[in-house]
Formats: sequence, C-alpha cells, structure tokens
Amino acid sequence: MTDQSAPDREEEFAIFHNLESEVRSYCRRFPVVFATARGAQLFARDGTAYLDFLMGCSSLNYGHNPPELKSALADYIAADGITHGLDLYSEAKESFLREFNETILGPRQLDYVIQFPGPTGANAVEAALKLARKITGRSNIIAFTNGFHGATLGALSCTGNRYHRAAAGQLLGGVTRLPYDGYFGPAVDTADYLDRLLSDPSGGVDAPAAVIVETVQGEGGLNVAGTEWLRKVAAIAQRHGALLIVDDIQAGVGRTDAFFSFEAAGLRPDIVTMAKSISGYGLPMALVLVDRQLDKWEPGEHNGTFRGNCHAFVTARAALEHFWRTDSLAASVMEKGNLLKSRLEQIAQKYDPNRASAKGRGMMRGIDLKSGEVAGEVVRTAFQNGLIVETSGPKDEVVKCLPPLIIGEGQLNQGLDILQDAIDSVMGNAVNTAA
Ligand SMILES: *Cc1c(COP(=O)(O)O)cnc(C)c1O
Repeated sequence: MTDQSAPDREEEFAIFHNLESEVRSYCRRFPVVFATARGAQLFARDGTAYLDFLMGCSSLNYGHNPPELKSALADYIAADGITHGLDLYSEAKESFLREFNETILGPRQLDYVIQFPGPTGANAVEAALKLARKITGRSNIIAFTNGFHGATLGALSCTGNRYHRAAAGQLLGGVTRLPYDGYFGPAVDTADYLDRLLSDPSGGVDAPAAVIVETVQGEGGLNVAGTEWLRKVAAIAQRHGALLIVDDIQAGVGRTDAFFSFEAAGLRPDIVTMAKSISGYGLPMALVLVDRQLDKWEPGEHNGTFRGNCHAFVTARAALEHFWRTDSLAASVMEKGNLLKSRLEQIAQKYDPNRASAKGRGMMRGIDLKSGEVAGEVVRTAFQNGLIVETSGPKDEVVKCLPPLIIGEGQLNQGLDILQDAIDSVMGNAVNTAA
C-alpha cells in the first residue's frame, strides 16, 4: 500500500519535480519510484508489488522481462552484437526478417515489404501517410472520430483528441474527420455516410489518399469497429482509389487475439503500422508493412538515425519464435479475453447502464464509467490497493485493462478483484453522496 500523503513523499520525488518537465504524465497518476519488474508485476523501490494492467500501454504484451527474450538479448550483448547500425544490413535484422516472414507473413499469405521507420508509432504513421500521399498524388486523409495515431504533426492531424491537437500550436490540415463505427449509435451506418460523401461530387470531401483506421480504438476509449463495418470501409476505400492504412500499433501483436487485429475481419490492408509490442521487450521499434506493389519509396526518402534498433530486432525475433510459431497464445488470449469480458460485464451490471458499461475486444477491454472524475477516482483507489490501470476515452471516462497476454488466470482475477472493489467503493460512495 502506498501512502501518498506521507510527508516524506515530496522529498522522494524531488529530483523529478525539480528537473523533469511538466509534460510528464503517467507518473502523476502512479507516484512511486519503480525499480524492477517481472511478468505481470512492477516493484517499487520499497519493494511494494503492483499488478500491471497498463503494460506500457500494450508495449509489453509478453509481460515484463520475459525470460526467453531476456536471455536472447543478454547473449547478444555479451557477444558484442552490433547495437546501432543505421539501416545497414545486420545479422540481427536478417534473423528478424527471416522469422517475421516465416512465422507471420508466410502463413497468412501477406505479400508485404517491411519498412523500418524511426522507432516510434508516430514515426510509422508519418511514413505511412507520406507514402500514401506519394503513391496517390492526393493529399487528403480520412481519419475517424476518437482515433489516436500519435503526437507528431502528421499523425496528430489524424488524431481526434482536442487536448493533444491543441498542443500542436498550429493548424492541423490535410485530414477529413468522419464518424467511427457506432458514433451515432447502432442505428446509423457510418460507412454508408463515408461512401455517400466520397461518391457525391459536391460532398465537400477531397479525394483521399488513404483511410486510416484502428480496429479497436485504444486511446479513444475502447471503441470496437464491427467486422462488417471494417469490410465496408475497406471496400469503399478501394472503390474511391484510397489506400487502407490499419494502425495496429496498440491493437496488434496479439492484443485482440490473432497477431494482427484485422485478421478476424479478413482485411488485407495496403499499409499496416506497428510499434508498441513488436519488440516484445519494451524496446523502441516500429514497422510499416507495405503491399509489395505499393513500395514506391526512393532510397532514404523517409529516414531517421534510429531506423533499425538491433537489440529490438533480437527480442522481436525471439518473441516471434517463442510465442507465434503456434497459435496457442492467440487461443489463450481468446480465453482470457472472455474471462475479462464476463467479469467486467458482471461489475457493470451492478449499476445502471448510464453509469457503467463494459467494452472492448480480446484482452483490450474496460469499463466505461461515463465520467472522467469517477474513472480517475477508481484508478487512484485501485493503485492504492496494488493495481496499475489507466483510463482512456475523450473524457478519460473508460478504465482500460491491458493485462499482459501471458498473465495467469489467478493474477488476472486478482487484478479484477482490486478493480471491482475500487469501482464498488467509488460508485457506492457516489450514490451515498448523491442521496
Ligand atoms: C500509441 C499509439 C500511436 C503512437 O505511438 P508512439 O510510439 O507513442 O508514437 C499511434 N497509434 C496508435 C493506435 C497508438 O496506440
């Protein structure tokens, strides 16, 4: 248990408070100094253990310090394996490419080439947008309400969130925002709306270079696009000469069950962006998968010093070998996703649907508490009881559970017990105060 009111806490954080910019954010919610981590747990300097349902925002799908990845990396470092090599050919990259091809692309019959942009998700999105614009000669991009695609200017133009957009300090252009699946409730098919606007010469939407979409909106509040909607959007994009970019940075790498989140819908995107859990070890790494026919890049046209992080190649390769050569991980994600779903529904059902509802897909699920204040209080309470879990959504009203995919059912239930108690105590109190 942490006691944030203890008088000596301020001293403990002095170096951060004095020297680190006010831009810091997650640490404000979880004010302890972390030292080590293993599996589903983070340990504070004083030894306090926390269950981690944030996992670097889905950057650590295989848990903290997964042993198979750790030993591969330790061996590589011990042998003086090259650490930084721009985009030179390296054995580490060679092994990663071979494994990715044999384990992921080949079995799915996906004929993509792989671009290594700078090592962040935003950089992968920037590269995808630039390529789509270059290929089509068009500049407009269709992005959806509540989409989150990163914080650099091009990616930010596609991001919906007003707070993040405002930080740009300049006009964000080149994007037409359209409603995501379910934005107006189940009665309105927003794919039809997209098609109508693009088909109407006076619809006012410039012909798009690409449609960029998340299958599940992680930061946007765990909104799930339906299979039919996704297929329709893909067909509409194709009909109107726009490329389909699936941003799989958060929902990919098994988070929703299969390796790619769009497999369930049978999509075949023109471009796919990946980052977060692709290295499997929390090391910075991003990929852009590009349909082989669309690889119109000239050498170095999109570059960056840290294209191709060799340590990340080593852990990414080990992750594919250990977790993706069979479909057992995907099956267990499905199972644990169902457990997560039924427990979150149980929690929500205790309350009026206007106050709590479960949402999400796979092991990317949460509970919409309809109020950022309530959700924030729940997250604070859960933290005091040993669970790290964050909020998402336009008002930070959705408590978002991203447990590691490898978590045991015991720890999953334990975390959900803490969450349930936190919700009951906060929501119960809210009822009492209202009465
Ligand atoms: C996190 C995220 C990004 C941005 O990735 P960064 O590594 O933070 O730049 C882009 N798209 C989605 C869907 C994300 O979840």
